[in-house]
Amino acid sequence: MRLYNTLTRQVEPFAPVRNNTVRMYTCGLTVYARGHIGNFRTFVGVDVLRRALKYVGGFQMHHVMNFTDVDDKTITGAEKAGLPLREYTDQYIQAFREDALALGIEPVEDTPRATDPENLQAMADMIKQLGEHGHTYQTDGSIYFKIATLPTYGKLARLDHEGIQAGARVDSDEYDKENARDFVLWKATKPGEPTWDVGCGPGRPGWHIECSAMALRLLGESPIDIHTGGVDLVFPHHENEIAQSEGATGKEFSKFWFHIEHLLVDNQKMSKSVGNVYTVQDVLDRGFRLSALRYILLSAYYRKQLNFTWVGLEQAEESLRRITDFLGRVGGLSGGVAHVEVATRVAEAVQRFDAALADDLNTAAGLGELFDLIRALNIAMDARQVGEADAPGIQAAFDHFDQVLGVLSLRHAEEATPPIPQAEIDAGIEARQDARRRRDFAEADRIRQELLDKGVILEDGPKGTRWKRR
Ligand code: AMP
Ligand code: ZN
Repeated sequence: MRLYNTLTRQVEPFAPVRNNTVRMYTCGLTVYARGHIGNFRTFVGVDVLRRALKYVGGFQMHHVMNFTDVDDKTITGAEKAGLPLREYTDQYIQAFREDALALGIEPVEDTPRATDPENLQAMADMIKQLGEHGHTYQTDGSIYFKIATLPTYGKLARLDHEGIQAGARVDSDEYDKENARDFVLWKATKPGEPTWDVGCGPGRPGWHIECSAMALRLLGESPIDIHTGGVDLVFPHHENEIAQSEGATGKEFSKFWFHIEHLLVDNQKMSKSVGNVYTVQDVLDRGFRLSALRYILLSAYYRKQLNFTWVGLEQAEESLRRITDFLGRVGGLSGGVAHVEVATRVAEAVQRFDAALADDLNTAAGLGELFDLIRALNIAMDARQVGEADAPGIQAAFDHFDQVLGVLSLRHAEEATPPIPQAEIDAGIEARQDARRRRDFAEADRIRQELLDKGVILEDGPKGTRWKRR
């Protein structure tokens, strides 16, 4: 596989540093709000990377994705809500897990929380190590990283050293490139803020140290193989992660840096601070299925910005339907021998799909191959040049595509899940049967229509009434 590496600004061959297991870290959600679909562009993108590494690259994964459950935003949010920090963040972690599952995101091997005691301890240990290497200083109980002590500081973001203000400090978690300064590792206790005493004096960690410590604690010796996140994390977050990890260990932190471009709305970044966000629930409320959302999020090349529109979501729904209609047609083939030409065409498509994914995760090109195959096989089916015996090979190819894309399996799961509670459907079917027994057909039709309005189609058969999704 080849991947674009933000560190070198080049597409490079990828292989894990150690054996066949990819050790990958993803900066997870800051849990002060429900994740929006911009966040999920990044998480779906990372999921496609993970799946491609497994199912195209043939690697095993040790993938860590954290929850940032202590930082400036979570503390402010908990204070406003009048809840203990951990309880406040719990609800958004739960919501993230539900949304991720509903979007077909594979569970990863480790999902640490920054406030887990072993992680806080790892942060304190790293800060101590940085101190021993002369990279820190203390002011008013807070500990800072002195960027002038690390000549390589700025290598990821390509900072111009002239612009760096030596000696100036910054306490907030987020700031821009023009304000590159000594950043905070450990913040002294402030009234009303949560505080821990794990060896750095009473206080709480800065955002950046959290990821460095969790990545190295869980993934082991550096360098790790890939570090991932959205492009907005390049500076300062990832630059500071490099400074901390490399300053502490003296070794390279991560071989690859993988960044996903933003999801936009009206050509502006989707972000909570702008207020132009949609959540997974908003998408469902508009009557769309999440398989269509997943499709749209992964259909564009991850290094290109993607403008979100509802029309785009309708088109994604249509593209998905084209695939499922085609597979339905293949499933309905009856009789006929296998054709060498079909097998060859299918094998070619699989090979080209894999090549597209292996070429810096080019999902757009991969989907192009998939639709070319559909077009070719539809023509062949029209000409009766595809037999029932060809169907398993075609199905296997689409199963392979979907190992990476994860949209068809999601669609199947959605089809099997009723749009309203099962008990409501059962009660409706029973009431309708009662009405029919009474020969009250108007009432029976009314119940059928009521369920139909809720997306449930009733079908009467020899074994009674069954339902399916509209
Ligand atoms: P946060 O919760 O702000 O730390 O963000 C979680 C992840 O979502 C990070 O990797 C961000 O880079 C990413 N992210 C935030 N907004 C967007 C967006 N509009 N498009 C793509 N990724 C985003
Ligand atoms: Zn991070």
